[in-house]
Amino acid sequence: MDMDEARRRLEAERDRLQGVRSGFDDEHLTEESEDESLSELSDIDQHQADVGTETFEREKDLSILEQVDAELADVERALQRIDDGTYGTCEVDGKPISEERLEALPATRFCLEHQTAIERDSQRARVDE
Ligand SMILES: [Zn+2]
Repeated sequence: MDMDEARRRLEAERDRLQGVRSGFDDEHLTEESEDESLSELSDIDQHQADVGTETFEREKDLSILEQVDAELADVERALQRIDDGTYGTCEVDGKPISEERLEALPATRFCLEHQTAIERDSQRARVDE
């Protein structure tokens, strides 16, 4: 993997994610607080359904935002690893990650074997909750 190419792709991805993030800040999260936006409806029962939808939409936005933040953190970390000279190796066993995998997922932190193991563990952790 060409490090200059990897860096260029990661920086483009970082810009894209930051764009998504700032779009959220502008459109959604700097609006009035949830309490304020809901209070005007609180005495009208037939608006319950609308309130539910509104809350759902907000939660959906927040979970997308969390996802964007997580991806952004991975991209930042990958850029840091280019600087450190450890980019393109698995964080668990230090083995080189395949070119095809880096091509598809430039910010990946693990080889396929460990990615699979980690996803399996995190799914199990969710089930256990
Ligand atoms: Zn590994």
